[in-house]
Amino acid sequence: MSGILTVFHSAACDVENPPRETLEKPRHVAERIRRDRSHRVQLVAPTPASRDELLTIHTSEWVDAISTGEPVGLASEVFAWSESYARSVITSTGAMRDAVRHALAHGAAGALAAGLHHARAEIGAGYCTFNGLALGALTALDDGVGSVGILDVDAHNGGGTHSILGSNPAVRIADVSVSPYDRWSSTADRHHRAQVIDAEDYLGEVAVALEHLRGVDLLLHNAGMDPHEGCDVGGLPGITDTVLAERERMVADWIRSTGTPAAFALAGGYRGPELTLDDIVDLHMLTVDAFAGLV
Ligand SMILES: [Zn+2]
Repeated sequence: MSGILTVFHSAACDVENPPRETLEKPRHVAERIRRDRSHRVQLVAPTPASRDELLTIHTSEWVDAISTGEPVGLASEVFAWSESYARSVITSTGAMRDAVRHALAHGAAGALAAGLHHARAEIGAGYCTFNGLALGALTALDDGVGSVGILDVDAHNGGGTHSILGSNPAVRIADVSVSPYDRWSSTADRHHRAQVIDAEDYLGEVAVALEHLRGVDLLLHNAGMDPHEGCDVGGLPGITDTVLAERERMVADWIRSTGTPAAFALAGGYRGPELTLDDIVDLHMLTVDAFAGLV
């Protein structure tokens, strides 16, 4: 197909002196899109999440701490608080909601949002401040969508997402991790979690996770690149650029063959001795390009 993929991002998502790749790389992915993909991908400024929206997924204590910087101890739980950090996470959480609505209307979209799936209702964790995946899912359900599937292929488990959405019968989670961090368990058949130890098993587990989500009315793809063997945080030996390219192709094939609207978030992806920020951008472009092929 030859449409233009819409990806939500604006300068308001960027942070001065970003403390980690989570808050640093969205600007670099946006620059790459502007430089090399303007014929296939358009960047659209998101509407920041409102306080009322944030209160559907988080406690007022957490929302107010991040919004105001007070009390400073709580506000700096995930990253040292600053006005640009607060503006960034509030805006990129809105980007996820906008990507969901755009995907429901046009088939596919994305948000240059990272740092979502470890955030719980009452507090953020693991570089994640607000859970934009949860806001995206609840927005879709509120808009009348029957069921939402969340494919979480970040290196780490999405325990925050499960804690917020796991009891919602209209949400199905399929989580393929390569790390024990933020593990969750559920007795509900609608959820699926796998932890890969051997890279040889990785793509097979992704296929199982996708099969598990067959039948949902919307897919949220938490497209973490931190399983890559070069990442200092999360990386599993044997998971290469080629493996992650194949993963993104599998996800796109599933979206195409099932006709399911889908929105992606960047999620994890970290430098290592042999992996530069530019390399991380290359990896996230695998997701952007796979989704650009859907529209
Ligand atoms: Zn991760």
